[in-house]
Amino acid sequence: MSLQVHNTFTRTLETIVPRDGEGQRLSLYTCGPTVYAHAHIGNFRAYVFEDLLQRHLRERGFAVRRVMNLTDVDDKTIRGAHAAGIPLGDYTRPFKEAFFEDAKSLRLLPAEAYPEATDPAQIARMISMIGTLMERGHAYQAEDGSVYFRIASFKDYGKLAHVDLEGQRPGQRVASDEYEKEAVADFALWKAWVPEDGAVGWESPWGKGRPGWHIECSAMATGLLGETIDIHCGGVDNIFPHHEAEIAQCECAGHGKGPFVRYWMHCAHLMVEGSKMAKSAGNFFTLRDLLEKGWSGREVRYALITTHYRGSLNFTFDGLAAARTALGRLDAWRERLTETAAAAAAAEIPDAATEGFFAALDDDLNISGALAVLFETLRESNRRMDEGILTPAQARGLLNWLARVDGVLALEPDAAVELPAEVEALVEARAAARAAKEWKKSDEIRDQIAALGWVVKDTKDGQKVSKA
Ligand SMILES: [Zn+2]
Repeated sequence: MSLQVHNTFTRTLETIVPRDGEGQRLSLYTCGPTVYAHAHIGNFRAYVFEDLLQRHLRERGFAVRRVMNLTDVDDKTIRGAHAAGIPLGDYTRPFKEAFFEDAKSLRLLPAEAYPEATDPAQIARMISMIGTLMERGHAYQAEDGSVYFRIASFKDYGKLAHVDLEGQRPGQRVASDEYEKEAVADFALWKAWVPEDGAVGWESPWGKGRPGWHIECSAMATGLLGETIDIHCGGVDNIFPHHEAEIAQCECAGHGKGPFVRYWMHCAHLMVEGSKMAKSAGNFFTLRDLLEKGWSGREVRYALITTHYRGSLNFTFDGLAAARTALGRLDAWRERLTETAAAAAAAEIPDAATEGFFAALDDDLNISGALAVLFETLRESNRRMDEGILTPAQARGLLNWLARVDGVLALEPDAAVELPAEVEALVEARAAARAAKEWKKSDEIRDQIAALGWVVKDTKDGQKVSKA
């Protein structure tokens, strides 16, 4: 077995090989949410892809140490807190909580750590890294009081994104966290305090200020995972300038032995109904929007996971309906296998072709190939059950295989959960309100149920209640 992935840096497929002395250990850093709003399904596409990667690496025997940061101070969070007229921490907290709830709905494996940029220990590390960059001549303080990275001092700047720096005017500066490739310029490491920052600011050798977004990830990634990271993921829109800046900062402040990251992996954009997702276009969805429309986290996960991560994903409501149908087939098959296997004394290892599921994922997470094996196995064994020739031991063997598949896809049915009496009473009251077409009352009861930590969805088979 060799597991290959597409490395954005080299633009080639490469076999994942742990470093010497690391055994089967791999470090994985994934850029996390900027908590200025609820994460949208485009964000979750990246997180679901990273989850698939992490789960498949685990299936292949790697011990993955994963870190995902939370960006809780940057241009956007400060702007949001300022507009809301509340302290930054109060503004970001509900979005952090919502992110973890959403991650659970989508069955994302938890990371080993979720460092927060405003954590004093992380701020101290950012300041220390900037200090090293200053000492080594890779950074300077400008007249505006902010500290900038001197991109002319790092010859490899632009290599990840394949940006040619020829012709760029040295000394140009950009203060904002995001900029276009055409505007390549020295970027901010430490932003001097300005009145719009309000109460947000930390003391540093360069005066009061706050870190730039890029140095946050560099400091948190290397602080928790070491100066060389095996796999670093994100969405394609992170490649430039964010990941380019991370490389520059880490390699210039680091030990100089080898690259900051060994394998860069990026997932492509998500479109909705064929267009770029935008609030103005009315096709902008958070996970919550979809749950409210009656889709489950499992269905959304299916819709996000089933397009190869490097292909553009066109997210549609037809696609969600297809996800529901596919999951229904899988559930019915699972039940049927369970009944057939009931009398099994042993399990028979299934046909070697079933290993093709995992072999497909070894090929840069070829999900289409993997799903083809899954559904072919489903069809073939259903046919054998129709004919009454699938033995209990064979059914047991297929269920064992399916458990491994679930370890990677995480598409098993929601475990049956028992409702607390209080919630059950509310669900009944809501059913009565709906039968009487008292929609307002129905919505109020739904909110009461939500306050108790449960989500109620209306389906054609009536209300479905699950843990929030
Ligand atoms: Zn990042």
